[in-house]
Amino acid sequence: MNDRGGLVFVVSAPSGAGKSSVLRRVLAELSRLRFSVSHTTRRPRVDEEEGADYSFVSRERFEAMIRDDRFLEWAEVHGQLYGTSREEIARATADEVDLMLDVDVQGAAQVRRRMPSAITVFILPPSRAALDARLRGRGGQDDADIERRLGVAREEIERFREYDYVVVNERIEECVELVKSVIQAARCRTTRMRDAARGVIATF
Ligand code: 5GP
Repeated sequence: MNDRGGLVFVVSAPSGAGKSSVLRRVLAELSRLRFSVSHTTRRPRVDEEEGADYSFVSRERFEAMIRDDRFLEWAEVHGQLYGTSREEIARATADEVDLMLDVDVQGAAQVRRRMPSAITVFILPPSRAALDARLRGRGGQDDADIERRLGVAREEIERFREYDYVVVNERIEECVELVKSVIQAARCRTTRMRDAARGVIATF
């Protein structure tokens, strides 16, 4: 009934809460929802694709983009720069799709200030132990790195109150359904359904 797009969803979670897997499923299962491809200065991981996961750029290029005011938001996370370009938002609006931003708590706060209509969701791990186990299960990180991430996670989790919605990722299927429900509810807001409703009324 309504496919005009233009909604911006923001999802944050501490590292290891399963956000990427949840978002991948949500994006695969809902139509007219696009993943916002951020710019970052960090190196691509083996399974990552330029232009699909991130636009990988040098620090010089990123800093030039900051100077040119080309970011809706940007932040330094784990020593690397990450940002959402204004162009990404403009393109989604032009293509009439909704946009899903995967940004950290600093980025979410900036989006909220600059775009109050954005709908924000925080994904919580079920417990510290669960997060610890997931971080260790990933491999490739030493104890100090895991302890550091758990410390950061604690600080990030404290900020859940700033978000419109909070979902606990106890079971991925349930978490995916809850995030999808938030999106579908936003799409049914009366303000967005006016044209559709008028179309129905016109048939009477
Ligand atoms: P990763 O390097 O593991 O892909 O992401 C690290 C963190 O950076 C995650 O918390 C992710 O949400 C965040 N992040 C990714 N893209 C952006 C962005 O464009 N802006 C901000 N502020 N954070 C981002």
